[in-house]
Amino acid sequence: MIPASPFTENLNSNERNANNVGVQSDNNVPTLICFSHLRWDFVYQRPQHLMARFAADFDVLFWEEPTFGARQGPALHARAARVPGVTILTPQLPDQLTEEEQEVALRRLLKSYLRTKETSLIRWYYTPMMLPFSRDVSADCTIYDCMDELSNFLFAPKKLQMLEAELLGLADVVFTGGYSLFEAKRGAHENMHPFPSSVDQDHFAGARGQLQQPLDQRSLPRPRLGYYGVVDERIDLDLIAGIADAHPDWALVIVGPIVKIDPATLPRRNNIAYLGAKDYAQLPSYLSGWDVAIMPFALNEATRFISPTKTPEYLAGGRPVVSTAITDVKRQYGHLDGVKIADDPAAFIDACEQAMTPAEGWLDQADQALAGLSWDRTTEEMSRLIAAARSRRAARTAVAQTAKPVPRAPARRYDYLIVGAGFAGSVLAERLARRAGKSVLLIDRRPHIGGNAYDRPDAAGILIHEYGPHIFHTNSEEIFDYLSQFTEWRPYEHRVLANLGNQMVPMPINRTTLNRVYGVSLRNDEETKAFLEARAAPLEIIRTAADAVTAQVGVDLYEKFFRGYTRKQWGMDPAQLDKSVTARVPARFNDDDRYFTDRFQYMPANGYTAMFENMLDHDNIDIHTGLDFDEAAKTFSYDRVIYTCRIDDYFGRRYGELPYRSLKFERHTLDKREYQPVGTVNYPNEWTPFTRITEFKHLTGQVHGKTSITYEYPCDEGEPYYPVPRQENQALFKRYESLAMSTSDVTFVGRLATYRYYNMDQVVGQALSTYRRLTRPSHGEQGASLILAGEERKLASLRTGSTV
Ligand code: FAD
Ligand code: UDP
Repeated sequence: MIPASPFTENLNSNERNANNVGVQSDNNVPTLICFSHLRWDFVYQRPQHLMARFAADFDVLFWEEPTFGARQGPALHARAARVPGVTILTPQLPDQLTEEEQEVALRRLLKSYLRTKETSLIRWYYTPMMLPFSRDVSADCTIYDCMDELSNFLFAPKKLQMLEAELLGLADVVFTGGYSLFEAKRGAHENMHPFPSSVDQDHFAGARGQLQQPLDQRSLPRPRLGYYGVVDERIDLDLIAGIADAHPDWALVIVGPIVKIDPATLPRRNNIAYLGAKDYAQLPSYLSGWDVAIMPFALNEATRFISPTKTPEYLAGGRPVVSTAITDVKRQYGHLDGVKIADDPAAFIDACEQAMTPAEGWLDQADQALAGLSWDRTTEEMSRLIAAARSRRAARTAVAQTAKPVPRAPARRYDYLIVGAGFAGSVLAERLARRAGKSVLLIDRRPHIGGNAYDRPDAAGILIHEYGPHIFHTNSEEIFDYLSQFTEWRPYEHRVLANLGNQMVPMPINRTTLNRVYGVSLRNDEETKAFLEARAAPLEIIRTAADAVTAQVGVDLYEKFFRGYTRKQWGMDPAQLDKSVTARVPARFNDDDRYFTDRFQYMPANGYTAMFENMLDHDNIDIHTGLDFDEAAKTFSYDRVIYTCRIDDYFGRRYGELPYRSLKFERHTLDKREYQPVGTVNYPNEWTPFTRITEFKHLTGQVHGKTSITYEYPCDEGEPYYPVPRQENQALFKRYESLAMSTSDVTFVGRLATYRYYNMDQVVGQALSTYRRLTRPSHGEQGASLILAGEERKLASLRTGSTV
């Protein structure tokens, strides 16, 4: 058990005083909290350079990885850094906590600490691994300063990649530590900017003169070749040994902490000196005593994207540099006479020899390359981008909060109180008012009509779907004609590509998909059918969503396209879900790349909300949004209720909660006309935490210089979007249904009230037949179920492609 105490409560008074010495915070200054996997007192690097400068405008909190061994439960150790304005926060945890317990403890410590800050907050991440305990902290802006491809590092946890994708989804702005990293990641975020390492030139300039030599370097012979920095798996130890062996007359000086690798594996020679970690302040004096500064990096996954800070520092200190072929070094500094790039050990030694007598004028040339490079400038440019991202976020929030108010309904007795202004509620309101002449009060607890189909212009004026992409498609002429009374249509056939990492292919699986994925050239339906049949794993009885796919297309395609997506979307394995889930997207033998094959595929020309407004524009209909059923039931009088919300809510969840899957939407507006070639791109792999990205302009046909996209992140908590098709959930629903059957004067209709994974047209169809039932003379008799068997078949057929 983890004590629920706030961070200071676990410190005794001595500790509290000692631990918080010098920590002052000004509650008027905005707070910037930086989550870092590198400790503040580790090497003085990019995080320290930037945070020290951001401290001029922010109250900077530098959150480190926890230490262990706390005896009295979790505590937070806060101390002032030597740099003014920076507070170092180090969580202290007891040993033996599980990962989950650690997460809970860290979340509590963070929340308690932030409670003391009443200012606006900016989150800055160096590692996505700190997201789990900080993801729900509310911030004005989230920044990811990506210094490296962390997942390529030794011992990198598997979760890292997933969390990074989540962080990229959350971040308002992303910086990369170099150009190659920027190029590798640029598709992952629309507001990403490269900021290669900078340099504090004044600090290192001292090394150009005669600085007093540190004691441990003073006695080493010359020429000296030096390296400072972390010594870990990125260093080519064989290369160091090779240089030392080839030149016993050279002294190799290695300054820096040894991390993650066993010190016993370091090459030991008389002419190699490992001097350990030194303070940032001491580096110029070491540098000044070297003849050549080296960067003996191994060329591997962990160094592919690095942009070593020491390159400009070595040059600012007036030392010629020899490096292995690190892309960003080659690219930014490789053209300089003072920087030699060597591809193999022999060339490296050769380059070191040449570097000892550099070409005339090399230092002037290096200075030109360094001109304008400074951490101050980097900070200024980053600040500008952060300010822009903050104001964009503020504008988005303001728009979300100013939803159109709907006039209050007059108090009178209504024939019907309809709860929920989505398709189910609105179609019934329209029919009952217009056709049957009934008076209707339509309410919704959200601040708008339209239910989940609600759309609105975003801050840039681009029409977006607030609750995820809604594409209208139906096989029913009756339903299409009915809705056509309230809207003009824009023909639109939805197309979806699945992003498989190395290629994007049509989804649902069709002939083109197979040709691209397997590099084959199937020419017609027969060949495609035979190809799939050879892969399929036929089953006598198809029960689950996994069976439905593997029986049709086999295991490989199932794993590529369905398993990961479904696990993310539903939070469970396809083997635990009903077959109807994946049966929604069956494979095809032809090359039809449309997502739906229905007869009618259109989008409302002016959007869904406009269509709902027309539908509900009738004297017999009063609308009251922002109003919950409980409140309305107390305030208004009516004869009958039509309830389109969660059926378990209506009955106080007395048999337990019906499970729903929810989504979080992350929206971005990009300063470009188009982001992706089709309306939706699915990400079926399991490690990308979102399922799909939708670009609305494809759906709506809107012409605009910018474009808006939405990422969908499935989750358990939140609005109930998806009933979960499983037998046990149906059984629970049936118990509520029997209660509903015996409840007079209430009609249950819609996706939530009948716990059906219905599309819009199916809900319209259900509402229309409910209307017919309600207005039949014997409407009190509902039969044995909320949905009659014939009606169920009819609605299901809308999905399977036959017409009603
Ligand atoms: P809803 O639209 O959910 O309306 C119910 C309303 O009840 C809500 O507005 C809610 O606020 C309100 N409510 C709940 N509780 C209370 C209360 N206590 N008091 C007052 N009001 C309350 N279908 C398609 O055909 N094509 C698509 O492309 C498509 N895409 C989809 C994408 C996503 C992400 C989701 C979630 C669904 C999608 N659908 C799509 C399905 C479609 O949204 C539904 O079929 C349709 O919106 C259901 O309408 P409804 O009226 O039953 O429910
Ligand atoms: N599905 C999948 N991979 C995909 C698309 C869909 O595994 O690329 C599965 C997944 O289980 C999903 C179901 O098929 O929930 C139905 O897909 P659909 O596009 O109809 O889902 P919706 O639009 O309702 O979210």
